[in-house]
Amino acid sequence: MPTALITGITGQDGSYLAEQLLDQGLRVVGVHRQVSAPDHWRIAHLAGRLELRTADLADGGSWLDLLDDVQPDELYNLGAQSFVPTSWDQPLWTAQATGLGVLRVLEAVRRVSPGARVYQASSSEMFGNPAVTPQSEDTPFAPCSPYAVAKLYGHHMARTYRDAYGLDIRAGVLFNHESPRRGEHFVTRKVARAAARIRSGLQPDLAIGDTSVARDWGFAGDYTRAMQAILRDGQRFSYVIATGVSHTVEDLLRVAFGAVDLDWQDHTRHDPALLRRNELRGLRGDPRRAHDELGWSPTVGFEALVTEMVRVELERCGSS
Ligand code: NAP
Repeated sequence: MPTALITGITGQDGSYLAEQLLDQGLRVVGVHRQVSAPDHWRIAHLAGRLELRTADLADGGSWLDLLDDVQPDELYNLGAQSFVPTSWDQPLWTAQATGLGVLRVLEAVRRVSPGARVYQASSSEMFGNPAVTPQSEDTPFAPCSPYAVAKLYGHHMARTYRDAYGLDIRAGVLFNHESPRRGEHFVTRKVARAAARIRSGLQPDLAIGDTSVARDWGFAGDYTRAMQAILRDGQRFSYVIATGVSHTVEDLLRVAFGAVDLDWQDHTRHDPALLRRNELRGLRGDPRRAHDELGWSPTVGFEALVTEMVRVELERCGSS
């Protein structure tokens, strides 16, 4: 039975990927960091099927020991400090986990597990404010946040280790992807949760920043399928994964509040404190290479995604 190792197993993507790989019959080893009060809510339903081990992206030695022991066939490197605003508040920690953390994992692969196929979780944030839309594998990177700079470091290091050491490493440049398991501080989950809580009388209103900001939002479960296709079938180093369609935060508000029969304008207030430093404009992906070479395409559209996120939040309101 092939073994897959997933870093960032407690995160959104780690949980969907683990489910899919377990269903394919793989042995799945998830890696989490040691914290005083662990919260494994996204993977609680996988208990007994998933093996859990500890290692920290800030500590190189822990990856050496772990990979030497596990010898994975597939390694999905998803662990990161992944929230852009936090990267402004904690740029050094972000550089450690999101940037140097990649090098620590790659070094461990090179030294003790060179036969592993590696997937690196790169990000559309690396495009910054792009000169061309949509963005493809040929679009130049111009990162605009400590998170994006750290991701670009990891991306270039992954390519460098592939070229210099002949390791089997690929990267997915993934545009935003969401789900009911998204972290609460991300705007899609924040809006879905607020719509459900306002409808349920648990929250008076929602403070919101710039509603004209647009993103190319897809469903996380589709994107974890793409990770597997990139790692197993990709002939090139990197693939852009996106829906090819962008929507504004106003679209998000309209669909989310519409799903609970509310008008978003009656229940939101503008808060200038929520405006982002160096907000990005013009991000929209061109997933043609992934479609043509990997046969990948998204299965869940924007409205269905947001509506499902609100439905799950309503359920959560019922149980709170
Ligand atoms: P997420 O929910 O924020 O999960 C991040 C994971 O990294 C968590 O399991 C977290 O563990 C772990 N982590 C953080 N610091 C760590 C450290 N020092 N050592 C070990 N593990 C650490 O992110 P996601 O949405 O699943 O995204 C997965 C990956 O794809 C990330 O690398 C992200 O940057 C990248 N990405 C995401 C998107 C997107 O739209 N979701 C788009 C492009 C790229 P804790 O639970 O302990 O915090």
